[in-house]
Amino acid sequence: MNFTFTPDQVAMRKTIVDFARQELNPGAAERDRQSLFSRQLWDKCAAMHLLALPFPEQYGGDGFDFVTTVAVYHALGYACKDAGLLHALTAQLICGLQIVLFASDEQKAALLPDLAAGRLIYAQAMTEPGSGSDAFAMHTSAQKTESGYLLNGAKTMISNAPVADRVLLFAVSDSEKKAFGGISCFIVARDAAGFSAGKAMDKLGLRTLTNGELVFSDCQVPASALIGRAGQGAMLFTEAMEWERTLIPACLLGEQERILEESVRYARERRAFGQSIGEFQAVAHKLARMKMNAELGALALYSAAALKDQHKRAALETSTAKLFISESLKQAALDAVQLRGGYGYMTEYEAERELRDSIASTLYSGTSEMQLNLIARLTGV
Ligand SMILES: Cc1cc2nc3c(=O)[nH]c(=O)nc-3n(C[C@H](O)[C@H](O)[C@H](O)COP(=O)(O)OP(=O)(O)OC[C@H]3O[C@@H](n4cnc5c(N)ncnc54)[C@H](O)[C@@H]3O)c2cc1C
Repeated sequence: MNFTFTPDQVAMRKTIVDFARQELNPGAAERDRQSLFSRQLWDKCAAMHLLALPFPEQYGGDGFDFVTTVAVYHALGYACKDAGLLHALTAQLICGLQIVLFASDEQKAALLPDLAAGRLIYAQAMTEPGSGSDAFAMHTSAQKTESGYLLNGAKTMISNAPVADRVLLFAVSDSEKKAFGGISCFIVARDAAGFSAGKAMDKLGLRTLTNGELVFSDCQVPASALIGRAGQGAMLFTEAMEWERTLIPACLLGEQERILEESVRYARERRAFGQSIGEFQAVAHKLARMKMNAELGALALYSAAALKDQHKRAALETSTAKLFISESLKQAALDAVQLRGGYGYMTEYEAERELRDSIASTLYSGTSEMQLNLIARLTGV
């Protein structure tokens, strides 16, 4: 077991921290107020290869292992104050990882270069108005036709949907079988006839990430739109969740570390009753818990990432990492507001935005309740 970053990883993390501070942070508060997704910043991230890291070099990627990708996104989460933009980037990477794992060589050659270069934006569409946690209870259908599939249905809350050029869509292709064997995954282009995207939904936090509805109305796609085999969609999605529940928590852990650092600084500087507030045990213990959770979160994160690098099943480890890190982040963000007193509540300071952003983390990619259900099942309950 090796728990240290390599010199290359240390150098990459430093480059990313400098990049995020200089290029991504200016104007983050204003973009949040305006719910603005910045294509210009997306392009800058793409130019920094942030969308290419884990993909094979032959398809325009950088060929880094997953631990390195996670280490870079961990650094990005620490330095970048635009959590919505980070979520948009990770949504793209998760789509790409599914293509790498399940698509044919022809599909990889056709799709990955534009994805890795950020030229086209991707979204992954599973959730429907009537099915979120119970994802496989979806109703969107994919009916086999002579030339391919006819898609009908609607998806909602999909990250990147309003700006996406391509969608990885999950639909029922065999209603007799339903989940495993009955759901398939398709790649749908924005200009496909019968496909439309709604406008961005207004949100509590992550306001620079766009989320929205996708509607498929007699949308005909060719047979070549199928990713993986027919009926393999649920398996594909289950596998994708393991990568997602590692990559997104990498950003969340970085955010948590930044909140800790800024809270420690505030606790040392702010004075009350003739001493710094950090000298009150009630404040110090909050910071001690934040530190403990960040340390334990890092162990959970990198052990899950190492398992995925070895292409092992890691449902338990990835769910544990996602649950622990997202709940710890939410608590840290809440504590950061509390220890700033009334200033924590004012939009002029960052603690308020960090709290709003953190709340989504225990909802997307499986709610905390669903992670606990999975962990219980995998523990033999
Ligand atoms: C910021 C953001 C980004 C998102 N991005 C995407 C995306 O890119 N693609 C996509 O497909 N979806 C996306 N989603 C949707 C997300 O995956 C769903 O919101 C989530 O899975 C929960 O589904 P739901 O909202 O329908 O809640 P429900 O499933 O209706 O759950 C409501 C409540 O009931 C609880 N509950 C449900 N079932 C159980 C159970 N068996 N045991 C215990 N409690 C239970 C839940 O935990 C929750 O508290 C996103 C959501 C957000 C907020």
